[in-house]
Amino acid sequence: MADDLTGGCLCGAVRYRCRGEPDSQGLCQCERCQKQSGSSFLIAVVYAEFAVEINYAALQTYTAYDDGGAALNRHFCGVCGSAVMITLDRYPEIRSMMGGTVDDKSRLNPTFCLWCSSGQPWLELPTAIEQFPDYPDGLIA
Ligand SMILES: [Zn+2]
Ligand SMILES: [Zn+2]
Repeated sequence: MADDLTGGCLCGAVRYRCRGEPDSQGLCQCERCQKQSGSSFLIAVVYAEFAVEINYAALQTYTAYDDGGAALNRHFCGVCGSAVMITLDRYPEIRSMMGGTVDDKSRLNPTFCLWCSSGQPWLELPTAIEQFPDYPDGLIA
């Protein structure tokens, strides 16, 4: 399909295809996402689980638990270490693909940013991106 979103890791061991347009796109500046991305924020391109085809065998997973005990699984390439996808036990029906792994960056259009309170001081986001100091109740991302 022409409008499928494709992507993969730095070395090419992990490739994926997502059907159609994402449900949402957002950024996260929490300390954990800064660590994992090795950068100032993480880009999450959110799809329904059923819309994502990915070779799970090439992925390794680091799981951490939030204060409520829910698991957040960070999936990365076992060869090159690229962060590729996040899954949440709380929301098993969604997949968050990491924006830096998308082939066609013109498809990226994040509309919100989480955890701006822990952002790096030099970073100023465009005002078109809705900015939250933490993780607002009710949001699924
Ligand atoms: Zn790789
Ligand atoms: Zn985060």
